[in-house]
Amino acid sequence: MATLLIRNGTIIDPSQSLEARRDLLVRDGRVAEIAETLSAESVEVFDASGLIVAPGFIDLHVHLREPGFEYKETIESGARAAVAGGFTSVCCMPNTKPINDNSSVTSFILEQARQANLANVFPIGAITQGSKGEQLAEIGEMKTAGIVAVSDDGKPVLDSGIMRRAMEYAADFDLPVVDHCEDCCGATGWAMHEGAYSALMGLKGLPGAAEDLHVGRDILLSEMTGARIHIAHISTARSVDLVRQAKARGLAVTCEVTPHHFVLTDEDVYRSGYDTNFKMAPPLRSRDDLEAILKGLRDGTIDAIATDHAPHHANEKMYEFDKAPNGILGLETAVSLTLDRLVHGGVIPKARMIELLATNPAKIFNLDRGTLQVGAIADVTIFDPEKQIKIDASKSQSKSRNTPFDGWELNGAPVATIVGGRIVWRGI
Ligand SMILES: [Zn+2]
Ligand SMILES: [Zn+2]
Repeated sequence: MATLLIRNGTIIDPSQSLEARRDLLVRDGRVAEIAETLSAESVEVFDASGLIVAPGFIDLHVHLREPGFEYKETIESGARAAVAGGFTSVCCMPNTKPINDNSSVTSFILEQARQANLANVFPIGAITQGSKGEQLAEIGEMKTAGIVAVSDDGKPVLDSGIMRRAMEYAADFDLPVVDHCEDCCGATGWAMHEGAYSALMGLKGLPGAAEDLHVGRDILLSEMTGARIHIAHISTARSVDLVRQAKARGLAVTCEVTPHHFVLTDEDVYRSGYDTNFKMAPPLRSRDDLEAILKGLRDGTIDAIATDHAPHHANEKMYEFDKAPNGILGLETAVSLTLDRLVHGGVIPKARMIELLATNPAKIFNLDRGTLQVGAIADVTIFDPEKQIKIDASKSQSKSRNTPFDGWELNGAPVATIVGGRIVWRGI
């Protein structure tokens, strides 16, 4: 099989505590050799001078919209956006139509992904049938078909008894429960974070406590059942604290943050003038929440960066602010936002960034990825930490255009994405 030599790059791989200038040889889709200088006969050579070579980035949280909402995104267009954003793998949420709550939908997603032949796609199965929060879905059957986690993302599982049984069941199948934490707390019909800006804008707010209550409950349920839980899109200071305490007690609790929650706040919603590209669940929070998230990224409390890539058609986002659907694109902006704001912003070093985007995501969902050790599947992300880019939503590979970052100038970008030893995207 074809062989690829990635030359002169700086390999950063936290799984083997490696950060050094090295050549990397790929053979038969796997990492064959890493050394200071390698040469091989009749191979494709990728010159990575001045670039960082990392284990392929894994997005634990995307919405690919197929089946059912192909006008927003398909598995093919989502996978194309993923590789153009430096992601070799994405894990897709089950809130399609039909919901991925049985093995035939799981198999359909995997087949579409196989045909697209771009990024790896790992489906997440629903916790409850139709994600209605009432009866458990066919979790065992979906695990056999290939799901890597369960979640009713988009909605919280409000009934504590159902969540307890879901955790017991998921633990039996060694699957993590991915938790969309939003206790309704009397705040149905909210449009943004509850605070001074929601008052100023006359919009109904969702208090941070709505998330904290749910995170607290599920940490307690995880302790009781022994289930692994993964808090999706953590957004409040108190929730970060709760996860920090749970970890200190040795519980199997992990969490992810989205780039928009470490870059934007409710003040940006105000400044945008009711721009619906600033509307998502959970909502953009306060400056204090954002500072707590940066602390959690620094001290290891936050395990992963995930995009919550949520394409919506332009017509849907043209509704009034309180009626527009939640969610924004994320796959093609995440790496640049992370490099610009977290690495160049002095919050974390590059090795920690790679831990958040590759090493830890692989561990959390138990994927045989996230490493460049010899013998590993050759999923590789190559990025240029100094590449100056200007985000242009009109050039997105996604079928949708809903991003608040259009026109932003950022420092750092992915330049090549390699899946199973094959270059599937090149930005240079
Ligand atoms: Zn969610
Ligand atoms: Zn989501």
